[in-house]
Order: sequence, then structure tokens, then C-alpha cells
Amino acid sequence: MKLNLKIAIFLTAGFLAVLLVFVMMPGARPGRDSLVFFTLTAVVDLFLAIYLKKTVVDPVKRLKAVVQKIGAGDLTKRVEVGSHDEIGELSASFNRMTEKLVDANRDLQAKVKELSEEHGRLSSLVESVKLGVVMVDLRLSVILANQAARAIFGKPQAKNISFQDMSDKIKGSVNISQALSYYVHAGKPLNIQEVMIGESYYRLFMSPVRDIVEHIFIGAVVVMEDVTDQKKLDKMRTEIVSVTSHQLRTPATIVKGNLEMVLGGDVGKISKAQKELLDDTYLGNERMIHLINDLMDAAKINEGKLVFPLAPVQLEDIVEEVTKENQAFADEKHVKLVYNQPAAGLPKVNINKDKIKQVFQNLIDNAVKYSSIDDKGRVEVDIQSDDKYLRFAVKDNGIGIPKADQEKMFERFSRGSNSTKLDPGGGSGLGLYIAKAVVEQAGGKIWFESKEGEGSTFYVAFPIH
Ligand code: ADP
Repeated sequence: MKLNLKIAIFLTAGFLAVLLVFVMMPGARPGRDSLVFFTLTAVVDLFLAIYLKKTVVDPVKRLKAVVQKIGAGDLTKRVEVGSHDEIGELSASFNRMTEKLVDANRDLQAKVKELSEEHGRLSSLVESVKLGVVMVDLRLSVILANQAARAIFGKPQAKNISFQDMSDKIKGSVNISQALSYYVHAGKPLNIQEVMIGESYYRLFMSPVRDIVEHIFIGAVVVMEDVTDQKKLDKMRTEIVSVTSHQLRTPATIVKGNLEMVLGGDVGKISKAQKELLDDTYLGNERMIHLINDLMDAAKINEGKLVFPLAPVQLEDIVEEVTKENQAFADEKHVKLVYNQPAAGLPKVNINKDKIKQVFQNLIDNAVKYSSIDDKGRVEVDIQSDDKYLRFAVKDNGIGIPKADQEKMFERFSRGSNSTKLDPGGGSGLGLYIAKAVVEQAGGKIWFESKEGEGSTFYVAFPIH
């Protein structure tokens, strides 16, 4: 029965009972009747109060106690559902709600367990990686630094390191905080080939980190690889190459001198057959001297010692000279070599004449060599200028460079996969590597455009001062 119905019935019944007694009382007198009426009302009200306490106040108190316990986290508690009134319904609803809470809590616990296990696995993985790993936020505060990273920065026992610890110790050509700020905000990765931290060398890989849910950049991860041993090995290799090439150059130069004397008839007449053999020997020796010189230059580049004096030079003079020198080679390969002379005089550029001549020599030689597939080979050389740059270009219609090889074409010993057929003697793959270093040393740029099977154009540009 509903609570307000119960109360209404009780009040009405009490009132009616008292009224009945009062009306039916024979010879009723006002003073006595009023006393009886009030006494009876008080008795009925007392019963009513006891009833209300049992049916309303006590269940509410019990509900309150259970609510407090559940609020404190004890989800095992339930409210006793005694009656079918609103209090009873409220208690039953409350129990149902608590059941749902228990279910939700169980799911939550499982999720939390799963997440903390995953977090644990990730943390152990990052901690046990031999590479130094540091994560910074957008304000360059270090959020995480693994054991290897803390050791690199001299704090193996610390829980974390500060960005200051890092930037103070990293010595290199790039300012680490500027580079990180720029690349993190631009969302671009950056690799720094070499920095020094303490006595060791490191390669740094920096990558912006995106929030996987909101897809916004939230910081960057810096991975540090110790390359000290590789560097030592590289240095040793370079020294061996350098010493060996020096040792080889002297006998090769002696062979060249002696062959020139014999071929020139200085030591007597030689037969046709002897001349043919000696010509081949001479060419082979020339190739060897070329290779030795390239190896020595490459070793110098590696040691950072390829430095030449620069002076103002009229570039078109060199280009004309080199084109003429290559004419015989082009004729031999049935390639048409054309030099498009500039209409007007060009400004001078600050370069090392001999070394740049060697670069142009190599580029024209390559263009002729790699376009001699049939008798339709054509190589065009030109030189142009705008306000800022003087640009040399050599264009051929040869085999081109396969797309897959293009990115590493200026690296040491790099050769296109399609080149060996036209150059069975075997180029060294050092020419472009040296050319890049020589051109860049003079503040210039070298690049190419190429399509396999259609040809290539190599460009070299120098700033006009
Ligand atoms: P080398 O020619 O001695 O191998 P280079 O460093 O001068 O060394 O050239 C490297 C490679 O670049 C060549 O082996 C060839 O695969 C490619 N290459 C250079 N110039 C051209 C060109 N004009 N056409 C096609 N491939 C070229």
C-alpha cells in the first residue's frame, strides 16, 4: 500500500474513532468530552507515530547507512526491501543500481588491469632497448628517458633527466633545442649523422609524436645510437685506403713515365704488336692512376680534409676546354657532343679551377659513356646565368638512372644497376661522390634529373658574388 494512503487512512480512522466516541457518549458534557477527545487523539497519534517510524524513518535510516557504505567503496552491501511502498521501491531500485555499479566496476577493473599490463610491457621494452630513447613534450620537457639514455647523459640511477642535461652535453654542428623545437612544431623527422656526448659519438634520430586519438603533435622522440665503434672502424679504413693509395701512386706514376718513353721510341723502335700491347697497358695504368686519385680524394672527404683554395674563374673557359678534350672520346663512342656557347660574357665565380675542371670532366665523360648505346647518342653542354647563380648543365639521351638508384647516386661507390653493361671496365662509383664534395666546398650545388631509358641532365650551380 502507498505510504500517503497509509497515512491518510490512519489519520481518518483515528479522527473518526474519536469523533464516534464523542458523539455517542450519553449525556455528554463539554469539559469532560473535550478531555476525552484530546486524550483519544493523543493515543491514536502515538500509534501513528510508532507506525510511521517503523515504516518510513527506519527504512530511510537503513538506506542511508547502506548508501554511505557503498559511497565508501563497499559494493557488497544491499538495502533490505521490506515493504511495497515508495521506500520499498526506492530500496529495490537502489539495489538494482548497485548491481549495475558492480558490473561496471568489474569491467573497469579488467580494463585497468589490461592497460597496466600493456603499460608495463611497453615500459620494459623501452627500458631494455640498448639505444637511448628520450621523449619530450612540445615545451621540450623530458617526459621519459630510458636506462640507456640516462646512462648516456651520466645519470644512470636517476628516474629521469632534464632537457638541460641533454642540451648541455650534446656537442655538434646542430643546436639540439632549436632543431627539436623547429622540427617538432613542423611535425617533421630529423636525423643528425653525428654528435658528440662526452667522449662518444652518436647518431640522432628525431621523430615527432602524434596523439593516436586526437592526431595532434604532442612532442617528439629522440633515439640515440652509439656509433663510436663504427666511426673508429671507418677512420681505420680511411687511413688504410689513404696510405695504400699513396703507396700505389708512386709505382703507377713510374710505370706511366716508362711506358711513355717506350711508346715514344726513346729506348728504341717497337713493333706494331708491341705498341698495341703497350697501348693497352698504358690505358689500364691510366685507369689505375685515376682510381688511386679518386680513392685518395674520397679518403680526404671522409676525414674532412678535402679543402682547396678558391679563386675567381671564368667558368665558360673551363667548360670549353673540357668539351674539347672529350671530343675524341665522344667520336670514338659515336656520340655527338655539342657545346652551346653562351651569347654574352658571364660573371666569374669563386671556385678551384683544377678541381671543378675534374668535376665537369667526369660529368661529360659519364654523359658520353652512358649514351653510347647506339649511334644516336647526343650530349649537349651549356652554361647559363641569372642574377644569383651560374649554372652548368650536361644533358644526354642515354640509359638514364633507374628511379630506385637515384636517391643514393651521390653516395660513395654508388652505381646505377643499368650501368655495368656500358662500362664493363667498371667505374668506381666515386666520381659523383667527389664531385658533390668539391662543388659544395665552393658553396655550389649539384643535382640531376633522369628517367631510365630516356636520358639524364646533370646540373652544377655556383653563386655569383
Ligand atoms: P662511375 O661512372 O665511375 O661509376 P660516377 O660516380 O661518376 O662513377 O657515377 C656513378 C654512377 O652514376 C654510374 O655508375 C652510373 O650508374 C650513374 N651515372 C652517372 N652519370 C650518368 C649518366 N649521364 N647517365 C646514366 N647514368 C649515370
